[in-house]
Amino acid sequence: MSRDPRFDILFEPVAIGPVTAPNRFFQAPHASGATNAMPRVRAGLRGVKAEGGWGVVCTGACSIHPSCDDAPLPYATLWDDDDVRAHALMTDAVHEHGALAGVELFHGGGAVLNRSTRLPPVSPSGKGWMSTHATFMSSLRPRAMDASDLRDLVRWQAEAARRARQAGFDIVYVYAGMGYLPYEFLLPDYNARTDAYGGSMANRVRIVQEMLDATRDAVGGEIAVALRISLEELRGRPGENDETEAHEAIALLSPHTDLFDVKMDSSPTDCGPSRFREEGAHEPVVDFVKSRTDKPVVGVGRFTSPDAMVSQVRRGVLDFIGAARPSIADPFLPSKIEAGREDEIRECIGCNMCIASWHEGVLVRCTQNPTFGEEWRRGWHPERVRPAGSTDRVLIVGGGPAGLECALTLGRRGYTVTLAEAGRELGGRLLFEAALPGLSAWRRVIDYRLGRLAVMRNVDIFAESRLDADQILDFGFERVVIATGAHWTKDLYSDLEVPMAGPDHPSVFTPDDIAAERSPEGRTVVFDFDNYVIGGLLAERLAGAGLEVTYVTPAGGASAWTINSNEQPYVHQRLEDTGVVVRTLERVTAFDGGTLTLAHIFTGSQRSAACDSLVVVGARRSNTDLYDALHARRAEWEEAGIKSVDLTGDALTPGAVAHAVFFGRAAAETLDGNPLEAFRRDAPFYTDPDLDRMRPPAWVT
Ligand code: ADP
Ligand code: SF4
Repeated sequence: MSRDPRFDILFEPVAIGPVTAPNRFFQAPHASGATNAMPRVRAGLRGVKAEGGWGVVCTGACSIHPSCDDAPLPYATLWDDDDVRAHALMTDAVHEHGALAGVELFHGGGAVLNRSTRLPPVSPSGKGWMSTHATFMSSLRPRAMDASDLRDLVRWQAEAARRARQAGFDIVYVYAGMGYLPYEFLLPDYNARTDAYGGSMANRVRIVQEMLDATRDAVGGEIAVALRISLEELRGRPGENDETEAHEAIALLSPHTDLFDVKMDSSPTDCGPSRFREEGAHEPVVDFVKSRTDKPVVGVGRFTSPDAMVSQVRRGVLDFIGAARPSIADPFLPSKIEAGREDEIRECIGCNMCIASWHEGVLVRCTQNPTFGEEWRRGWHPERVRPAGSTDRVLIVGGGPAGLECALTLGRRGYTVTLAEAGRELGGRLLFEAALPGLSAWRRVIDYRLGRLAVMRNVDIFAESRLDADQILDFGFERVVIATGAHWTKDLYSDLEVPMAGPDHPSVFTPDDIAAERSPEGRTVVFDFDNYVIGGLLAERLAGAGLEVTYVTPAGGASAWTINSNEQPYVHQRLEDTGVVVRTLERVTAFDGGTLTLAHIFTGSQRSAACDSLVVVGARRSNTDLYDALHARRAEWEEAGIKSVDLTGDALTPGAVAHAVFFGRAAAETLDGNPLEAFRRDAPFYTDPDLDRMRPPAWVT
């Protein structure tokens, strides 16, 4: 197949100052969790994107100086020669496939807390970000920068840019976004300076201009200089000499950069979950940029549809299609469009599990692409698989996300696979979950896999086929993988914060009951200690159906964990909009069908409330009956020809869909060896363990 001519425009080369990108697919800087302590993992996950056709592949935030230390959040550094060596692995991996490598140099100013380097944080006027998100809270406040600090900042940027060039980067960023230091100069909220760097817009952009110019001087004009800038706030503020301050800033900065990378100001608006924000949601903020500059513009918007991408270019919104999440979900998105295989794109579902990994300080994980981050350490690849290690026939029981991923990977490996699903439709838990308000994009997990499986001759799928141990022993498949999922329990939550037996009353419901259309009635309490999306979603759905709903959680906010996936602010808004009353820091201790008893989790003080139905969204337990039954009859396996019976997905360990897909892939990868625990461990570059810098200073005895 060849590319549809209507997508030709996406494959045009575009100049960025002195370098030229081979096409318009631009993997914009995004966190990966792979810091300089994991240089090979990092090179693996960036390199695979270049292999998949992205014309530009960038790092995530890369600190220019130890006074910018974002620990425990994962970030890269370009502080010394060892860092140069670490990044050179990534630039080599990207260049190998003809792409350009970009580095997002950053200084976090008052938004980073230097918890590891213990240097004093700095900001334009001593104002820090007073976040309500615990990860970003600190009693340490930044100090105001004086004139020598400003000179230092420009020098650090230049020194890091020189190292970036040494490391082989083609594009070097100045990052004036997301609350970080140069951005703090742009907004009077942070910047109360009365010198040449505060006041008018021309003054507020000055430090950014100086950093861009210093970067250009440092890299000798041979590689490109890019500016990443957040425009949401500025766009909302009328300008003195132009429509808005965003218009003014772009015009003032344009002569100093080779590329604008434009974005929103906060993670929830920049990386909005699909549940609350559409593809291309940034456009109303960034649509003007090309009217104020002749430099190329890149922007993101969770673009997965090639038609939407073409439209961005043709309508003059963007020159490059920036992507973080779509490039994680499918590193081969560009090459699939190029080959006319757009229907094979593994589209991002906008669940933000990837972003949550950053908030949790770990290597990125993706619901759609379980290989992401595993390229180097486990040798997994998003498109290629190891050939089958035997001619064993495999039976997979259960067609949820885990069973489907396992079948797809084993099918690609060349195994003869049979998948049996009890239900009428394939998809498991996602059939219900993707039908909850705003989650329709999550169906892509099923649709992508069913689409690929449909063209595989070595995979047979049988719906409406609930299997038991007798049948499986009769069939005699050599390998059996059990992917029978998990179920929600009615357990409540003890004062030790563990599940405890709850009331077995007919008016107590679980999400499984609601999925099976057994619905609560009357005054309904949703008690959520699962803390992910389902509790909030059920409260929203039940309120939408006209019930009087109270949402109760022992956590400090609704769907508490979703602060990590950028959903929580929107969840609260939605619950308020749908009339759901939210009660936090409380646990349900008893329910008799008419009265609910609750206790405050810190004080223990009790209260009761009238309640007709209780929905418990708490503990889940694996469905292992079939697995247990087969293992109880192990003595019969040999005669039946069975060599192994393994668990995967929620049946192995209950989790989010991302975990189920990962374990489904793992079951397929490990079927014939390569146990999951046998992964390569990465290590940082370190020139000489006896270096002077490791010795205590002379005055320490
Ligand atoms: P996971 O997230 O691990 O994929 P799901 O709960 O989404 O788990 O899917 C499990 C699937 O297994 C469900 O679709 C369920 O109908 C199916 N299933 C459970 N028990 C059996 C069985 N004995 N035979 C066939 N399918 C089963
Ligand atoms: Fe998209 Fe979810 Fe994967 Fe992130 S984790 S790239 S949002 S599918």
